[in-house]
Amino acid sequence: MREENCIFCKIANGGIPSVTLYEDEDFRVILDLGPATRGHALLLPKEHYKDLFELEDEVAQKVLVRAKRIAGRMKDALGADGMNLVQNNGEAAGQTVFHFHMHLIPRYKDDRAGILWKPGETTPEEMEEIKRLVDSQ
Ligand code: AMP
Ligand code: ZN
Repeated sequence: MREENCIFCKIANGGIPSVTLYEDEDFRVILDLGPATRGHALLLPKEHYKDLFELEDEVAQKVLVRAKRIAGRMKDALGADGMNLVQNNGEAAGQTVFHFHMHLIPRYKDDRAGILWKPGETTPEEMEEIKRLVDSQ
């Protein structure tokens, strides 16, 4: 299904031009217009899924296989030292475009891109409580 008012549906299906690094019948990989680092790309399914939780299992499997292949190619081609795969779900998690996408972010030594978090703190009690809540679902 494609959504009339979704910009990533339009880009993924070629209705809006983009710099495309890869395309097949299910996906398009484009360069992000506001890159965190040189070569920051987005893997977009051509069908509309709001987020990870709407993806069919078959599509979810393909996402990781494509991401692995394309991120590896990008890393070699751009001479990156590492690669972050980032995928945001929901506004609280930083999602701003509500069409599933996976960020492929090449990392360069000392690039200072603000992607990683500062480690927080927890307690054994809190960890047990989290485990109990997840187990009970
Ligand atoms: P997220 O915050 O995970 O929803 O990521 C949305 C990403 O889409 C951001 O990194 C934006 O820079 C990028 N973006 C938004 N509009 C476009 C566009 N028209 N073409 C390419 N990238 C875009
Ligand atoms: Zn869409």
